[in-house]
Amino acid sequence: MNDPRSRIPGLDRLLLDEGARAFLAQFPRPRVADALRAAVASAREALARDEWPHDPADPSPYLDEAGRRLEAESRPSLRGVINATGVVLHTNLGRAPLAVEARVAMARAAEGYSNLEFDLDAGGRGSRYEHCRDLLRECTGAEDAVVVNNCAAALVVVVNALAAGRGVVVSRGELVEIGGGFRIPEMLTRAGAALLEVGSTNRTRLRDYRAAFEGGVEVGAILKVHRSNFRIRGFTESVEIEALATLASERGVPLVHDVGSGLLVEPATLGLPDEPTPARSLARGAGLAVFSGDKLLGGPQAGLVVGRSHLVERVRHNPLCRAMRVDKATLAALEATLRIYREPETVRDRVPVLRMLTRSADELEGAAEDLATRLRLLPGIGPVSVEASVGRVGGGTFPDHELPAWVVRLTPAAGGVDALAARLRTGVRPVVARVENGALLLDPRTVGPDEVDALVGAVGEALDGAGQG
Ligand SMILES: *Cc1c(COP(=O)(O)O)cnc(C)c1O
Repeated sequence: MNDPRSRIPGLDRLLLDEGARAFLAQFPRPRVADALRAAVASAREALARDEWPHDPADPSPYLDEAGRRLEAESRPSLRGVINATGVVLHTNLGRAPLAVEARVAMARAAEGYSNLEFDLDAGGRGSRYEHCRDLLRECTGAEDAVVVNNCAAALVVVVNALAAGRGVVVSRGELVEIGGGFRIPEMLTRAGAALLEVGSTNRTRLRDYRAAFEGGVEVGAILKVHRSNFRIRGFTESVEIEALATLASERGVPLVHDVGSGLLVEPATLGLPDEPTPARSLARGAGLAVFSGDKLLGGPQAGLVVGRSHLVERVRHNPLCRAMRVDKATLAALEATLRIYREPETVRDRVPVLRMLTRSADELEGAAEDLATRLRLLPGIGPVSVEASVGRVGGGTFPDHELPAWVVRLTPAAGGVDALAARLRTGVRPVVARVENGALLLDPRTVGPDEVDALVGAVGEALDGAGQG
């Protein structure tokens, strides 16, 4: 009766080991002790099942395991990943990466105090809403602008400010779910307005909107929602902004347009299909346009409300605006991003989202070939090929639009592709890639030139892990 567990070194003995001393130089003693205790506990369980492949008296496996635990614990939960999916606006991966200018401005705002709500000229209280106001006016032609947390919040505060206790007229073809369970009809009700749905899923005419005014419910606003993430084809009809604007002004109610993606340049200049822009929406008669900061605008998460000053004023003074206010770092990043749009000819190079979206097929093919050449040199790699593919913009925008894409297709020499993808996700520098038809696909569109080394390194490490089972 010699229980192997009795040969496990005690905690005091382990803490004196050279390996533990290295941990103690980096982590507080109680954390090192906890990690060693946990390592020993899992070893005890393995020993009880007769599944411990080491000499129980050997301290190094416990120290190795404790090291892994300490490293995992100290790793931030939210961390950078390499997006090798090719989906530019990947909501799960944080949507828009920011321009250098925006990152610098954000770090500066975070670093010290700022004039966030302080008027430096007057020496008294200022407004955080001032900072991006003029730039937003310039970019959209609006009279006034206000910034909240995201576009969903913008819509809630706008509806509450303009139509609480009254009705909002909206086409049945636009009662969409935007993603993450955000549904327009529920949102209108939560914002305190009655939903006055008109028309049918595929066809809504001007006379349908007109009839809503005769239904006995006082109308607070007409809302048009851009069907960002899906399209209706075939026997369809909808009412253009101009006609809705005329009706709205006849009836003395505001027209609100949820534009969604916030493209601040004409889509044709980027080779993209037509998409409403806030500037066009306002020029065509919308009283307010709302849109996201982190979709095609390419800035931080924010919800932008632009339009007529008397309407923006009502939004700004609504208590929900305070509840949904944006942080200084966001405002700094947004301002820096908007400044880029003052030099339209540089936008494509300086706003990462637009740069990635407009990379040419030739450039992407070259990038895929270069990546493939490097990957073929990795030990443990199987066949690697480069092939034409189809990319998507993502972020619930341009659902039909196919971007020309080139991808690297690879399989490991040994082990499964799913296991390889899992090791890539959980490595020191996580990589998110697509798995398709038994192969791993790496799309270079969303991999920055400064990330290629890390990507190749990560694949090398994941393949190395395959060799060890
Ligand atoms: C994406 C989208 C929203 C939500 O924007 P967030 O900034 O993610 O809150 C609202 N409306 C439309 C039409 C959208 O496309």
